[in-house]
Amino acid sequence: MGKTNKDWHGDHPMPKNPTEEQRLAWHLDHAAHCGCRGIPGTILALMEERGIAVPELQQPELR
Ligand SMILES: [Zn+2]
Repeated sequence: MGKTNKDWHGDHPMPKNPTEEQRLAWHLDHAAHCGCRGIPGTILALMEERGIAVPELQQPELR
């Protein structure tokens, strides 16, 4: 599975100057498919603000 994450990132670059919507969508997608990095606090705050459930990350090193 090691190459899956790399492939996902290759296919899903973060847009330049992303809007809040784009960052939210990217991090939701990222958490679902990769999760190599945690969701930043600013994004978590946005999710809370909008009532979006925070996804579980695939982050074995933080468990
Ligand atoms: Zn990743």
